[in-house]
Amino acid sequence: MADDAADDVAGLPTEVGWYLPKFDTVEEERLHRKQRLAAGFRVFAKFGFEEGVAGHITARDPERLDHFWVNPFGVPFAHVRASDLVLVNDQGQVVEGDGGVNVAAFAIHSAVHAARPDVIAAAHSHSVHGKAWSSLGRLLDPLTQDACAFFDDHSLFDDYTGVVVDQEEGKRIAHALGGNKAVILRNHGLLTAGHSVDEAVFWFATMERTCQAQLLAEAAGTPVLIDAEMARLTHGQVGADVAGYASFQPLYQKIVREQPDLLD
Ligand SMILES: [Zn+2]
Repeated sequence: MADDAADDVAGLPTEVGWYLPKFDTVEEERLHRKQRLAAGFRVFAKFGFEEGVAGHITARDPERLDHFWVNPFGVPFAHVRASDLVLVNDQGQVVEGDGGVNVAAFAIHSAVHAARPDVIAAAHSHSVHGKAWSSLGRLLDPLTQDACAFFDDHSLFDDYTGVVVDQEEGKRIAHALGGNKAVILRNHGLLTAGHSVDEAVFWFATMERTCQAQLLAEAAGTPVLIDAEMARLTHGQVGADVAGYASFQPLYQKIVREQPDLLD
């Protein structure tokens, strides 16, 4: 069987990113990526993940691989359109679009994009349950089917040194992320990474709710954990790249129908 047609147990192709749309030109791919990114900000706004000027989702440029697209500083997530996004180079300079870039966005995300060539997008915000959970300095437990997306696939940045403005600090965060899909930044919040914007945004939304679920469960009693073998199996189902990508699609459809100007 040819490599790219190899089937796994579930009968799905195993080629990396087989489910992602293909483009004839880099311009089409860039526009698609920017529209997904704008949709990600609108979804974050809907979920209430915004806290002042904190929070950023970034998407690697499909051509200039050490550049990424990000929200312009101070623009509400709910207003971000594809044309509002700014392109930042590996020195933190805005080279396309109007507006500045949050210094923490550059320090953290540039390090993540540099350390993980497989990562197309990374998402971070100061969402309430994520930051509450982050103060505990613990990894999430496999309490629910959804939580298994993060089983053996997230880490803890077990330090807090103020607002991340230093690129060295960004590198330490990227190191803590390792090959995982997410990292809990202690006393700060969550950060997720994906092989598409869709994935990074969905992982963030579901991780935030996983934090909420564990906080609720532990406040109410002593939760029963899913055993490691079953958690690993479930991770292969709900935690697969394609599952993250697919799970974003209903959110994307909903937000585009409701706020079509995000595509502009
Ligand atoms: Zn932050």
